Amino acid sequence: MRYLITGGCGSIGSELARQLVARGDEVVIIDNLSGGSLQNIADIADQVECCIADVCDPNHRLLRALIGSSNAVFHLAASLGVKLILEKPIETMHNNVEGTRLVLDAASHTRCPVLVASTSEVYGLSTRVPFCEDDPIVLGASSRRRWSYANSKLHDEFMALAYMQERGVPSIVTRYFNCTGRQQSSRYGMVVPTFISQALAGRPITVHGDGTQTRCFSDVRDTVQATIRLMDAEAFGQVVNVGSQNEITIGDLARLVKQRTGSASIIQHIPYSEAYSEGYEDMPRRVPSLDKLQRFTGFVSSTPIAEIIDRTARWMESQLSAESLLNVA
Ligand code: UDP
Repeated sequence: MRYLITGGCGSIGSELARQLVARGDEVVIIDNLSGGSLQNIADIADQVECCIADVCDPNHRLLRALIGSSNAVFHLAASLGVKLILEKPIETMHNNVEGTRLVLDAASHTRCPVLVASTSEVYGLSTRVPFCEDDPIVLGASSRRRWSYANSKLHDEFMALAYMQERGVPSIVTRYFNCTGRQQSSRYGMVVPTFISQALAGRPITVHGDGTQTRCFSDVRDTVQATIRLMDAEAFGQVVNVGSQNEITIGDLARLVKQRTGSASIIQHIPYSEAYSEGYEDMPRRVPSLDKLQRFTGFVSSTPIAEIIDRTARWMESQLSAESLLNVA
C-alpha cells in the first residue's frame, strides 16, 4: 500500500512513517517543517519520499497529485500546542481548517480514504469521566483564545464526516489524548518534553497551578499502532478516541520526571495567569473511554509513564549531545 502522511516530520507522523515502512508499505510525506524536522525521519530518509511543502499552498496541484497516487492519507499536518495557539490564533485556525478542507477536497476526486487527526481538546470543559466519542461538547467562550484550537479541530471533524456523506470520501477521525514520547519538541509547551528538558538542564520544573490536574499519557509508538489499526480496520465514518488510561497528576508527573532523570531541579508552582494569560481555562481531568478503539482494533496502549519518560529523556540527551558536537565542530 502507498500512504501519504501530511505532517510526516512531526512526532506522530514520523513514527507512523517508521512503522509503515517497517511492514513494507510505501510512504510519501508532505511537511512544511513548521513544527517537525527532517531530523525526525533521518533514520528512514532513504525509505520514504519527502516533499517539503505546505498543504495550504494555493497551488493545489502537488497535493492533488500526491493524494491521487496514494491508497490512503493520514492527515496529521496541523498547528498545535497551547503556546503556539495562544500566540498565533489566526495561523492556527487557517492551517487547521483550510489544510483539512484542501486534503478532503483533493481526496474526493479519487475517493481516497483519509484519516483526520483531531484532539481530546474538543471535549473542552466537559467534566465527564471518561470522555466518550458521542458525548456532547462543552466548549469555552470565544473570548478565551485557547478554545479556537478546539473549535478548528471540531470543524475538521465535521468536515471529515460531511465529505464522507456528501462526496464519498471514506474518512476516520482520531481524537488523540496527550500523546508523548521521542521526537516531541518542548518548543510548543507540551508538558512531558518541557519537564524533561527542564530536568536535564537543572532548571526549575514548572508545574502550573497546584498540580492536581490530571492527564492520561500514551507513548507515541502505541498511538501510532492504534492509528494504523484503525485504517486497516477501515473504521470509516467513525470518530475514535486514541490514548491510554495511564492517569497521573501533573504534580506527580513532575516528581517522577525528577526521579527518573536523577535531576537536582526544584519543582516550582506557577499560576496559570503567569504561565499563559489571565482567564486561562484548564481541564482538571481528561480521561478517554477506549471501548470504541478496542472494539475496532483490539488494541490497548500499555507503555507505563516511567518508560515513556526514560525513552524521551534518552532521546533528548542524544539530541543535546549531537548539538554540542556540532557547536564544537
Ligand atoms: N503544564 C505544566 N507545566 C508546563 C506545561 C504544562 O504544569 O510547563 C500543565 C498544563 O497546564 C496542563 C498539563 O500540564 O494542565 C498538560 O499540558 P499540555 O499543554 O501538555 O497538554 P493539554 O493541556 O493540551 O492536555
